[in-house]
Amino acid sequence: MFFKIPRLYDSHTHFLATGEFASGLYLQKLQSAEELANWDLSKNSFYREDWLVGFGWNDKDWSVKPTKEILDRLFPHRPVYLAKGDGHSAWVNSLGLQRLGLQSDSGILKEAEHLSSWDRLPDFSKEQRKQHILAACNVYNTAGFTHVRDMTGTESLWNSLVDLENEKLLTVALEENFTCYDLKGFEDSLKLALYTRQHETPLLRSKGIKFFYDGSLGSETAYLSRPYRGIPDGPRGRTLWSLEDVEVLMKRTWEAKLEVSVHVIGDQAVHDMVSLARKVSAQGFVGRLNLEHAQVIRPETIQMMKPLHVRCHMQPCHWLSDKAWLQDKLRDLYRYAFPWEALRMAQIPMSFGCDSPVEPSSFMSNYQALEESPAARIKKFNGSLEEVHAHPDSSFAPNSHTVIEDGKIKEVVFCGKTLL
Ligand SMILES: [Zn+2]
Repeated sequence: MFFKIPRLYDSHTHFLATGEFASGLYLQKLQSAEELANWDLSKNSFYREDWLVGFGWNDKDWSVKPTKEILDRLFPHRPVYLAKGDGHSAWVNSLGLQRLGLQSDSGILKEAEHLSSWDRLPDFSKEQRKQHILAACNVYNTAGFTHVRDMTGTESLWNSLVDLENEKLLTVALEENFTCYDLKGFEDSLKLALYTRQHETPLLRSKGIKFFYDGSLGSETAYLSRPYRGIPDGPRGRTLWSLEDVEVLMKRTWEAKLEVSVHVIGDQAVHDMVSLARKVSAQGFVGRLNLEHAQVIRPETIQMMKPLHVRCHMQPCHWLSDKAWLQDKLRDLYRYAFPWEALRMAQIPMSFGCDSPVEPSSFMSNYQALEESPAARIKKFNGSLEEVHAHPDSSFAPNSHTVIEDGKIKEVVFCGKTLL
């Protein structure tokens, strides 16, 4: 294999989190809740003010499930917040819950409660944040990427990025999106997106508003049109926003000439958003709709996308992680899973990414997923991998390219400068 790809683009990432976890407390190897007592937790980068913050645990094989009591015993005088590897829940001790003003018997926060709490943790210091940005740049560049689309922008991140660009230390070109958890927080997110839009730089672009409409297939919270595992009248997942609220968000964001990006994994979630975009467009509101993940899409939904300004941001590497249980969970809907070929046939624009730090940022894992998935009845992608992995705008951080040969990153050139 040989690829020379201009502007190698990871189209769905969590930039700062990627840097934080490259230098932070990564819990993937934690074998049990109690084992934490034996870990070296002295690194400054594991802390936000006095909070111990970690990420990446998975209790699938733990004999004792994580509880707040276990953390309370280990850390009686320090708030602790440990996000799970799938990004959909967190394990918190009593002092942490108290600081957050939350009640929980188990110490496990889920979905919206977790995500909004994560946002309310004390910020890292300015110096820590710069270290995280540089660590993230290094992660992406090492994986060959020169262009990334960040789904979790903040004001402090933006300001630090501008500083680092001025110091000529920024080695990726970034698109920023600002997350909104509910309509109450919308005005603040919009204001930030508009402010940053006015302060764009050669390497920094402000794109718009991101929100979560459904959950994940792994936790059976992605919103499907049929019950999980074929159980009659069983759960079909859930949505985090009412359609009325999404309508307001969509209209206001498009009026402001910004993009709407929505996390939609299940087929019904995608269908709801595409239907709503059609309704809103018919009323004269026009704008870009980015469908994030879009892991299951029915053919009629794809047809409905055609008149809209839709782009699907997919992560083939998720298929590698999900393949073990995907058919069992989806049953009849499996034939609509990871429909990159159906989207290509319908000429719906697509970009590929990796969703780091949920999955490592890796062109090779996407390549591998596309090679292996046809054996599992996922329709073979007949498009050009170069095309879906290149940033679509050739004027954004031009003179950048990446050479990949035999599974290795051979050359990375960013704005005319050789990085690797
Ligand atoms: Zn994501």
